[in-house]
Amino acid sequence: MLQVTVIGAGVAGLCCALELAERGAAVEVLERGAQLGAGSCSWFAGGMLAPWCELESSEPLIASLGEESLSWWRVRFPGTVRNGSLVVAHARDAAELTQFARRTARFEHVSGEAIAALEPELRGRFARGLYFRDEGHLDPRAALTALAARLGALGVHIRFGVGAADTPVRGRAVLDCTGLGAAPRLPGLRGVKGEMLLLRLPEISLQRPVRVLHPRLPVYVVPRGEGVFMVGATMIESAEERHIGARSMLELLSAAYALHPAFGEAQIIEIGTGVRAAFPDNLPRLRRDGATLHVNGLYRHGFLLAPALARRAAQVVLEGRHFPEVMDEDCRQRRLA
Ligand SMILES: Cc1cc2nc3c(=O)[nH]c(=O)nc-3n(C[C@H](O)[C@H](O)[C@H](O)COP(=O)(O)OP(=O)(O)OC[C@H]3O[C@@H](n4cnc5c(N)ncnc54)[C@H](O)[C@@H]3O)c2cc1C
Repeated sequence: MLQVTVIGAGVAGLCCALELAERGAAVEVLERGAQLGAGSCSWFAGGMLAPWCELESSEPLIASLGEESLSWWRVRFPGTVRNGSLVVAHARDAAELTQFARRTARFEHVSGEAIAALEPELRGRFARGLYFRDEGHLDPRAALTALAARLGALGVHIRFGVGAADTPVRGRAVLDCTGLGAAPRLPGLRGVKGEMLLLRLPEISLQRPVRVLHPRLPVYVVPRGEGVFMVGATMIESAEERHIGARSMLELLSAAYALHPAFGEAQIIEIGTGVRAAFPDNLPRLRRDGATLHVNGLYRHGFLLAPALARRAAQVVLEGRHFPEVMDEDCRQRRLA
């Protein structure tokens, strides 16, 4: 039985560990944080599974990997919701909507009436929108917790508080899923900071993520249930993750308010920041370095891409397969050498 150590218990590490364990590998996970989510970008994600909306600023590869991941989540995490996502803009930003439609796919144009039918709270607020019927969303924290429980049931131990550098992993295949922690070993990997808020507003209910387009800061609101909403997210070229900028705070709150003025009465229950790890082209990579396979560069698509990447990573490790769409050509040469 192949022995595999997965380093990092973010969404990439947990998906990889599960794919490997389900295929019969003996897996252990090392996580330097003291508990699930500590130190991981994944804890702060919106949890949107939006392959076709993401075409707005991403390569078609992201959409195809993302479509594959949607069904993976539905099987592994019953809390996955697949009731689409909605994109709206105020009349003065109508051009943004036209441009968004030009760049994306698999949506229908919806009128104000249709928007109200989907989201009654938004009645009378927007005249036009785009509805991406096949997209989904999940609560990232609940999803990570569910993956950890599935791993536990398969006998996979997650060793918290253990940094990879503290524990030699000789004699085992290694999957490095450490996000920005791998920057010293992966040239070009950079941090893109994302700031988010959790708001409590029991008076409002939304069924699905709603993106509000705006020329300066397009933001989204994702319902988490029980009157809690995640508002995100900024994109700042920085690896600093401790503070939220005053301007970001203003913009996130303004956007929630622009979606519905009732958000002016919401309680701010959490202010969070995470740093996404990205390669210069913002595409993910499986990159081999000796006995280690890096799974990294998930950028703003970690939940969307992790299952599809994990499937491929497991096949690379267990069957020696090669996936040119996500593996560097020179990695292949090294593996065959
Ligand atoms: C505000 C925000 C909103 C987002 N919204 C979405 C969204 O809606 N949909 C979506 O798909 N994606 C979203 N993302 C992107 C997504 O969160 C990331 O792509 C994803 O979390 C990356 O996962 P990862 O497992 O690669 O990295 P991480 O989650 O950072 O996990 C890496 C783990 O490795 C551990 N580690 C590091 N070094 C070591 C070491 N030496 N030894 C042991 N452990 C180590 C860390 O502690 C961490 O737990 C969002 C991101 C942000 C910041």
